[in-house]
Amino acid sequence: MPPVIDRERCTSCGVCEDICPGDIFKMDDDHPEVHYPEECFHCGACLIDCPEEAVSYRIPLPMLLPVYEKGFFEK
Ligand code: SF4
Ligand code: SF4
Repeated sequence: MPPVIDRERCTSCGVCEDICPGDIFKMDDDHPEVHYPEECFHCGACLIDCPEEAVSYRIPLPMLLPVYEKGFFEK
């Protein structure tokens, strides 16, 4: 799933554009926009580094299952 920006929280600091290794974000008129959602590979950097916790996404279930099966989540 592509990242979603919470406009209420976002302060347009530009960190997400700077840190995204996939260049998914672009600042348009000083506001971040998700320009290439299909190219997000869910590294999590934008979730971790956004100082306002304004970015979220849902990880596709097929990506979560191997992690779950390895025991990273409580069963
Ligand atoms: S890092 Fe967070 S607060 Fe900063 S521009 Fe991106 S979404 Fe907005
Ligand atoms: S999860 Fe990674 S690749 Fe996807 S938008 Fe965030 S920083 Fe970019």
